[in-house]
Amino acid sequence: MSVHVHVRHTDGLAVTEDGELMETTRCQCGATWTSTFRVEEGDPEG
Ligand SMILES: [Zn+2]
Repeated sequence: MSVHVHVRHTDGLAVTEDGELMETTRCQCGATWTSTFRVEEGDPEG
């Protein structure tokens, strides 16, 4: 069993219902990851 080093390629970007940016990355071996980023719009209330 050899050690496989995942090579992540961006598969897509989407915005969740909570307004966060979700990035999907994929390796050629079939593994996938999702990462979410909180988007700070800088929207002052009052
Ligand atoms: Zn892989």
